[in-house]
Amino acid sequence: MVISYKYRIYPNKATEQKLNEALDTCRWLYDRLLQEMNEAKESGIALGKLDTQNMIPSLKLVNPNLRKVYSKALQMVNYTLWSNIKSLSASKKNGRKIGHLRFKGKGWYKTINYNQSGFKIDQDHSLLHLSKIGDIKIKLHRKIEGTIKAVLIKKSGKEWYAVVQTEPEPSMPDPETRTVGLDVGLKSFAVDTDGKSVENPRFAERAATKVKNIQRRLSRAKKGSNNRQKLRDKLDKVHERINNRRSDFLHKLSRYYVNNYDIICVEDLDVKGLKEKGHNKSMHRNIHDASWSKFIFMLSYKAESAGRKLIKVDPRDTTQRCSACGSIVKKELCDRVHECPYCGFSCDRDYNASRNILFAGMEQPVAPIEPKPLHHISVMQVLAMKWEAAPLRTR
Ligand SMILES: [Zn+2]
Repeated sequence: MVISYKYRIYPNKATEQKLNEALDTCRWLYDRLLQEMNEAKESGIALGKLDTQNMIPSLKLVNPNLRKVYSKALQMVNYTLWSNIKSLSASKKNGRKIGHLRFKGKGWYKTINYNQSGFKIDQDHSLLHLSKIGDIKIKLHRKIEGTIKAVLIKKSGKEWYAVVQTEPEPSMPDPETRTVGLDVGLKSFAVDTDGKSVENPRFAERAATKVKNIQRRLSRAKKGSNNRQKLRDKLDKVHERINNRRSDFLHKLSRYYVNNYDIICVEDLDVKGLKEKGHNKSMHRNIHDASWSKFIFMLSYKAESAGRKLIKVDPRDTTQRCSACGSIVKKELCDRVHECPYCGFSCDRDYNASRNILFAGMEQPVAPIEPKPLHHISVMQVLAMKWEAAPLRTR
């Protein structure tokens, strides 16, 4: 993608003289190369782009003014000639009747093309430096961003312009960018590509006996009685405590990832439908589903406000694929270990998935790695993390 900026430039008398001369020399070269081609054609020789380009050095003996023009700009004259020929033959193919390419008369050549080199732009002092021409004042009404690929000097009436062509900086992640892939699941709440395995909080399961107890007493309590109301409040309190703790856990864990990584890759759970994530029979299944969705939602808004990136990837084959060699290694839900019969890579099932998620998100190919033991993070460790500033409760 090329982005063009057009700026007015203000050459002084002497520089303007040089620019006018350079334009006329370019025009001379254009016409001369066209003439050489026409003559060659008449004697049955079809010249190519490179043939005409190779004529330029010897033409400097014919017209010493060529030496006063930046050599790359002269090559671009040849380039312009050939692109004109190309568009002419294209219109001929479209059935439009067009004669021979015309010679350019005095004043009809209007562009000097500094391609790749021969120019320098000093944005601080608003100066454009052109090789063989000198410094020219440039009015930079807009800051130039990206890598400058070319500067085209154009004459329009009595005014001069510089068209600056840029390409945006490549967005490849530099080595400083901290990336992580996360696989959420039932056994561990999350396993990441750095080998961390975060314990799944089972707040609801842990409180299950207590909840059942209260519920049983509640069912026996007389309707409208004080006791019944008390038990109700007690039950509400237990539920609220569970919810608060879970929320606390999710906030702290998502904060941890946003604070420590620039790019976080997760599975797109809307696509996955959570099918493969664990046993469907689990009684608290829906709670876990909700927790993962909430966790990813928290990651997404925290990442956005911190200028980090959350990438959701297509969950297809993230579990089955070998993250070392790319082979598909079928596994059942109960298979906790990934063991690749093709390359011998063996590791935790979810760790393998997290690597695939990271590769998919970063659009990188799979790569071998030395397996290492996972580092276990307990729920208590997560809860002991510092609470973020200005918490946003989304319970
Ligand atoms: Zn493999």
